[in-house]
Amino acid sequence: MTVATRQQLGRLVETLQRTIPAGRVVTTGPGYDAARQLWNGAVASRPGVIVRCVDPSEARDAVLAAREFGVPLSVRGGGHDWAGRALSDGGLTVDLTDLRRVTVHPAAEVAEVSGGATALDVARAAEPFGLTAVTGTAGSVGMAGLTLGGGYGPLSGRFGLAVDNLLSADLVLADGSVVSVDEEREPDLFWALRGGGGNFGLVTSMRIRLHRVPTLLSGIVMYPWDQAATVLAGLADIVPGAPDELTVQFGVLPGPGGDPVVFLAPTWSGDDTAAGERELARLDTLGTPLLSQLLPTTMPEKLAAIDAQFPFGRHAEIRSRWVPALTTGVRDALHLAGSGLTSPCSAVSLHCLHGAAARVPVTRTAFGNRDPHLMVEIIALWEPGDARAADHRAWAGDLSSALEPEALPGGYPNLLGTDEVTQIAHAYGPNTERLLALKRRFDPDHVFRAIPLPFSSASEVACS
Ligand SMILES: Cc1cc2nc3c(=O)[nH]c(=O)nc-3n(C[C@H](O)[C@H](O)[C@H](O)COP(=O)(O)OP(=O)(O)OC[C@H]3O[C@@H](n4cnc5c(N)ncnc54)[C@H](O)[C@@H]3O)c2cc1C
Repeated sequence: MTVATRQQLGRLVETLQRTIPAGRVVTTGPGYDAARQLWNGAVASRPGVIVRCVDPSEARDAVLAAREFGVPLSVRGGGHDWAGRALSDGGLTVDLTDLRRVTVHPAAEVAEVSGGATALDVARAAEPFGLTAVTGTAGSVGMAGLTLGGGYGPLSGRFGLAVDNLLSADLVLADGSVVSVDEEREPDLFWALRGGGGNFGLVTSMRIRLHRVPTLLSGIVMYPWDQAATVLAGLADIVPGAPDELTVQFGVLPGPGGDPVVFLAPTWSGDDTAAGERELARLDTLGTPLLSQLLPTTMPEKLAAIDAQFPFGRHAEIRSRWVPALTTGVRDALHLAGSGLTSPCSAVSLHCLHGAAARVPVTRTAFGNRDPHLMVEIIALWEPGDARAADHRAWAGDLSSALEPEALPGGYPNLLGTDEVTQIAHAYGPNTERLLALKRRFDPDHVFRAIPLPFSSASEVACS
């Protein structure tokens, strides 16, 4: 699709304003600016029109109008895609941030989640019923964006990825039709949605499985940098044998004094709290911690704490690798990157895929890698105006390159930039051909452009 002309956009706005109040079909002003603000402040895209939907039917009107006038389309949820795919530069952005209702059915242990709800919205709605959802680590991440691309999180060892907890979805397809999909209704489309991201339609609502977790033990342990080698070696022994109930996120960040630290953010979600305390104690004694706060908590508390650490508006560049284990080579690369941190905001975070998430057969959903592995998230982050932006970007690229010899092919599609062609080619593993065939069937004109898909023809790659 080409960039929309002024006339196309004018006619598009006129059409939309017939069914959606003018105040929510915005081309400029505070409402427009607010909807343009993404987590990554470096994204400069300016949509020609933003439609701020409060109702699923408005989202459908927006998809139909974009098609009618041949205007490129994007969908904005929680605004955390660092590559800025939520905004269609010069095109139409369907903003779902006001579509945030969450309804919990406690007896069924299910939540109905609107397309723009965040992880924190879901966690807060579920918590009064003693229930929790499988989310990622940050609260302001959109639940649909996280789930459709996979969704690593602190409960993944016990309950699978977020995508494994998706029961059904209502979505607007590229031709404007509205469908409900699950294992029985349009099973192919439901399969593609679970891992294929926003490439198949606009999700107005999803039903997700909730879980009863009486006590969540979690928090943070930080070790000083001179103990990094010992602590990482200790983790290399613990992580592969961790029980399902224990998911350990860990990595490197600048500590309170400015020097790098190794951080561990373990979560115990098992029913046996005493066993959890014993497991966490092992992580607390890998060296002499600078800080150790491992306590009973709630999912909303946990998510809000991460949001405070990673606020909207900083500039970001993210690189990502899948590695099979915390090998010596991976530890060396982490050590080098920590010692060479260029920004006081940057971090490296490793998410474990193990337990329940690793027992799902790889072809059951479109998510491409179910072998136990670590997803390395390399987050270069700096304040706007920082003159060393190029250094911060290079730092992320260097770590990604250093990990390459240790890495599995592919990578987590939710974090891959469109330029990571080699990784994209392998990101869906054995599911690639089926996924691409379904994209051609359900969205042959590439109306929905979301996480990257590995089309081999140049014209299709340019569109996806
Ligand atoms: C601080 C931070 C922490 C993160 N933590 C984790 C983590 O712990 N685990 C993890 O797995 N990932 C994590 N991520 C990655 C995150 O899951 C992805 O970036 C995800 O795409 C963000 O979704 P969003 O709705 O917030 O983003 P947006 O930028 O709003 O949307 C990204 C894309 O998702 C699609 N999308 C969103 N909503 C819909 C919808 N309703 N219907 C159809 N398509 C939709 C669209 O294609 C859109 O372009 C993190 C990212 C950041 C920045």
